[in-house]
Amino acid sequence: DAESANGGYVFYDSEMDKNIAGRLYLESGMQRALQVQEFYLLYQAKIDLHSAQVIGAEALIRWQHPEKGMISPVDFIPLAEETGLILQIDAWVLEAACGQARIWQDAGVRPFRIAVNLSAKEFAFTLPGRVRQALLRHQIASEWLELEITESMLMQNTDSVVAIMDEITALGVSLSLDDFGTGYSSLSCLKRFPIDTLKIDRSFIQGIPADPDDCAIASAIISMAKQLKHKVIAEGVETRAQFEFLKTVGCDEMQGYFFSRPVSAEDFVQLLDKNFCF
Ligand code: C2E
Ligand code: CA
Ligand code: CA
Ligand code: CA
Repeated sequence: DAESANGGYVFYDSEMDKNIAGRLYLESGMQRALQVQEFYLLYQAKIDLHSAQVIGAEALIRWQHPEKGMISPVDFIPLAEETGLILQIDAWVLEAACGQARIWQDAGVRPFRIAVNLSAKEFAFTLPGRVRQALLRHQIASEWLELEITESMLMQNTDSVVAIMDEITALGVSLSLDDFGTGYSSLSCLKRFPIDTLKIDRSFIQGIPADPDDCAIASAIISMAKQLKHKVIAEGVETRAQFEFLKTVGCDEMQGYFFSRPVSAEDFVQLLDKNFCF
């Protein structure tokens, strides 16, 4: 079920989200999708350069729409965030990812972290409890789970954000900071947050190696992350040249089409045996 080269999406008419009817159509569609299971997850490998193995997966939502075909999250997550439906969607994703972890755990698959994306709205004092419940409900070890959060979540009251993060970390669930570099987080705050991994946004990877600015930004983030004792992963690595550059400047983990596109759970297990030596 690997995604095709163009992403395999059928985009709905871009005029549609400009008109109210289109928004209502999508909004009621998302509600139905939650009920009749039109959403599903694909998994994209995260590669550890030292072992040349898969060390994790990012769960990425897809919507199989009965009339429109496959709809990309970039076309419905923003509307879901506006309408508040994102809370139910994120809850569905957490459930589905934990359910899949349980299937893999039962099958004796070696544990690896499944990273779930959380929208900013999700980051509340109720989050640790909900994560704990999900782990308990599916009876999976917390080493199976990781949460990808964004810089905008760190902008709220720092003390309460740190408290929420500490609670999540205490469960054994790891946290990574997604789209790093695109937000406005104060660098001095970074060391206060119990973040395991900084995830360098694809926009900085794209221009490597031709664009000297992108090269400088990526290598600066990598060395800063290391000095602050965070792990660092580059997303959207598509080419050998990007891979080589990032490896040279000390990036330990990578994710992107160069290694694997997002694939179904069935296809993902096969990647676990693969040696990503280049
Ligand atoms: P993101 O969190 O930055 O996720 C990475 C996106 O980059 C994914 O797009 C992935 O398919 C794509 N990607 C991975 N490797 C490459 C590459 O080498 N080249 C290129 N060009 N793209 C690559 P996707 O799956 O379309 O997701 C888009 C965004 O939608 C995600 O960006 C994330 O912000 C959001 N999203 C996806 N799934 C969920 C979800 O379950 N919950 C929430 N709240 N947001 C989600
Ligand atoms: Ca992400
Ligand atoms: Ca993101
Ligand atoms: Ca990104």
